[in-house]
Amino acid sequence: MSASSPDRRRFLALLGAGAALPFASACTAKPAAKGRFPVMKTEAEWRRTLTAEQFYILREEGTERPFTSPLLKEHRKGTFTCAADGTALFASSTKFDSGTGWPSFWKPLPKAVGTSSDRSLGMSRTEVHCSQCGGHLGHVFDDGPAPTGLRYCINGDALKFRPA
Ligand SMILES: [Zn+2]
Repeated sequence: MSASSPDRRRFLALLGAGAALPFASACTAKPAAKGRFPVMKTEAEWRRTLTAEQFYILREEGTERPFTSPLLKEHRKGTFTCAADGTALFASSTKFDSGTGWPSFWKPLPKAVGTSSDRSLGMSRTEVHCSQCGGHLGHVFDDGPAPTGLRYCINGDALKFRPA
């Protein structure tokens, strides 16, 4: 199965839906931020400043249900920022409709995100997080459009939109 096959995308979409179920979250939840980041807060502080949905995504590496984010329909010019600390992460010019149900981008802003290896759920994936707070954003796949060929599959709950 090639990385760009429709079957694989459908599988990932189903997987995302499954990961959003309560039982799955209990199995896969783990600390998002490994190591030190410029923005550090205790779990209690994050729980105070984030919504329950944001905390689940950013701090517990959760996955929102596909086709639920209002940002899927955000087509204005502007910047998508980290919901936790406001760091500019993606320019609207790099957003595209992947059909997966999650906001998708083909390139992050310079130095905006970091990546780590994610072997949860029996797959090898590349996890994407905010470079400033370490908050989990989503994953990056190699079946995106030109010019990078990358697909940053990002949870809308981890983002905010700042119009230009
Ligand atoms: Zn952040």
